Amino acid sequence: MSVSRTRAFDEIIHREPVAPLSSYSKSSEIFGTKVFNRRAMREFMPKEAFESVVSAIEQGTTINRKMADMVATGMKSWAMNKGATHYTHWFQPLTGTTAEKHDAFFDMDISGNVIENFEADKLVQQEPDASSFPNGGIRNTFEARGYSAWDPSSPAFIIGKTLCIPTVFVSYTGEALDYKTPLLKALNVIDKAAVDVCQYFDKNILKVIATLGWEQEYFLVDSALYNARPDLNMTGRTLFGHTPAKGQQLDDHYFGSISDRVLNFMRELEAECLMLGIPVKTRHNEVAPNQFECAPIFEECNLAVDHNQLLMDIMSKIADRHYFKVLLHEKPFAKVNGSGKHNNWSLSTNTGVNLLSPGKNPKTNLQFLTFFINTIKAVHENADLLRASIASASNDHRLGANEAPPAIMSIFIGSQLTQVLNELEEKVKTGKMSPDEKTDLKLGIGKIPEILLDNTDRNRTSPFAFTGNKFEFRAVGSSANCSLSMTTLNTIVANQLIEFKKEVDALIEKGSGKDEAIFKVLRSYIVSSKNIRFEGNGYGEEWVKEAAHRGLKNIKTTPESLDALVSKKSKKLFTSLHVMNEREIEARHEIYLEMYTKKIQIESRVIGDLSLNHIVPVALRYQKVLVENTRGMKELFSAKDFQTVAGTQMEMIKTISSRVATIILNVEKMTEERKKANLMEDPKEQALAYCHKIKPFFEIIRYEVDKLELLIDDTYWTLPKYRELLFTK
Ligand code: ADP
Ligand code: MG
Repeated sequence: MSVSRTRAFDEIIHREPVAPLSSYSKSSEIFGTKVFNRRAMREFMPKEAFESVVSAIEQGTTINRKMADMVATGMKSWAMNKGATHYTHWFQPLTGTTAEKHDAFFDMDISGNVIENFEADKLVQQEPDASSFPNGGIRNTFEARGYSAWDPSSPAFIIGKTLCIPTVFVSYTGEALDYKTPLLKALNVIDKAAVDVCQYFDKNILKVIATLGWEQEYFLVDSALYNARPDLNMTGRTLFGHTPAKGQQLDDHYFGSISDRVLNFMRELEAECLMLGIPVKTRHNEVAPNQFECAPIFEECNLAVDHNQLLMDIMSKIADRHYFKVLLHEKPFAKVNGSGKHNNWSLSTNTGVNLLSPGKNPKTNLQFLTFFINTIKAVHENADLLRASIASASNDHRLGANEAPPAIMSIFIGSQLTQVLNELEEKVKTGKMSPDEKTDLKLGIGKIPEILLDNTDRNRTSPFAFTGNKFEFRAVGSSANCSLSMTTLNTIVANQLIEFKKEVDALIEKGSGKDEAIFKVLRSYIVSSKNIRFEGNGYGEEWVKEAAHRGLKNIKTTPESLDALVSKKSKKLFTSLHVMNEREIEARHEIYLEMYTKKIQIESRVIGDLSLNHIVPVALRYQKVLVENTRGMKELFSAKDFQTVAGTQMEMIKTISSRVATIILNVEKMTEERKKANLMEDPKEQALAYCHKIKPFFEIIRYEVDKLELLIDDTYWTLPKYRELLFTK
């Protein structure tokens, strides 16, 4: 039996307060103490093994068996020193969560003695029984072998008493079954492509890393109230609930003071993050009541992705201790702001230069413009694919709803850079340029103001915005694994840079000077990608019209948007750069469709169950009270007076009947549609049916339920209400 609303409040009232965390004075005291980082490696590993790992991280070299053995031994002694008893490969299967299979460090020798055992083979490879992870047909269940293999570029860490080793997860036949594998490949591809282009400007640039700084939004709700909401429990969002009298209209939550209880949770979360080497920096309230944000300092992309996955994991664990539940869903409450996860992205060189930061002289500014314009061009050419990379059942609620970046992909760059691009378009001649014209151009570029850095020219309604020294991909969902968007973004930009280099080299071959060739190609990109640039209000209706006029797509639902992933163009892109092969792409497409279907299917079932088991019985119970009351009135009053005194109540009785009837009827219809959809074998057809035939019932049923919530005696209502979920401090 689920806990009823009144019991939930009883629990809250009688619960012991959580003792605050004993304080630590400096973040640096605890930072990275649970991570097998370079400092720990140096201490616990022979020099040659340490150097082998560093070279694997920095140059992508392989670690040989002998070295791996030394690393394993070092890692084990470090972990045991810290009290770890078990180890696990930590990986990111396509379910969207992280997976672990714990093994003890000890083993038995032949004579049955217990020995501490953890050697290279266990470090390098594990075989989790992978049959229950989604694989989109790549691996039949009888061939239940998937391998997880160590990713040395993300350091091992300890959670509780377990040493966690970040790994990739691939099938027996070598296909990626996780998010990390293609990401690592994409990062490798952009490194090479960007270095090649950097050679035009600076021969010392030999390595380019993609950087990611995510901003994680989330809601906190009291765990007792959460437990009394089966919909939150099973789907991560509320499927019913009337808007509270006071919502976010007063804007009093944003940057408001954080309650002690929440602060207590945040402090503990931050301490844990710091120990795990996640450089969390900012915390604040978000727009909606009980909504918050947490953001770290940016890091190398792969590490940042792991850290975000880790954060989402530990958040929930720590919240439990504080009687909170963390909601990572993109839209846990209807008509209340949803949650996103801004992905701040840039490229950084071994020479310490941020390639998306305007430089101080014409040369570095041309380099900046090259990467800036190529990114715009890449997004223009692959907007559909980028849209597909953020598609999920839960993010569908957010994209295009009036508080989140729309499903239409566009780029905001601010007025100053718009002016720079306009000038370039005007001044760069397509024909031969005179020396004076070239000098003039270079001077002009040299003046790109440095004030761009503290850019106040912000547009919060754009899904993809340039913010001074990085692009901010804002349409990513709060529950998403950032790998998806980052694999796509890095791959499309890499592809674009390769294309760019080809075009520039071709012009140089024909006799153009280098700078002139670069200018000309950039100019052509400015012209051809103009459509994707939009500086106005992305939430407005006018933009929807304008975008349609420009031919930009507005794909609102996941099943349709995923088409872009399996298009000819996308397959060519991913396969030619060896980020994913065709089977992997097809498998992913199928898995994402299946995930979509399952999510909507579960929601539909929960709506049916709650309607029939909670809402209707409560409505009928209250109706009975009204019926008895009116019957009593009939005894008391004359027939003539009765009509006057009991009229309103009789209307209420009728309203309840009619709403109950509508609910039951639509639950039945929805169930019928579900039965039909469940018979479908093609995943796309099935996902479309769930999207267009089943999901529309949600709103119809919800409307009636929410009206009943307003009508029925508060003490009868079993589900905690929005005002309680959102405002219980
Ligand atoms: P907001 O978007 O909330 O106004 P900011 O614009 O300050 O906040 O963005 C902060 C985020 O941008 C942080 O997560 C930060 O780490 C990240 N960031 C800053 N510089 C870079 C960079 N070069 N590459 C990637 N992320 C970056
Ligand atoms: Mg931001």
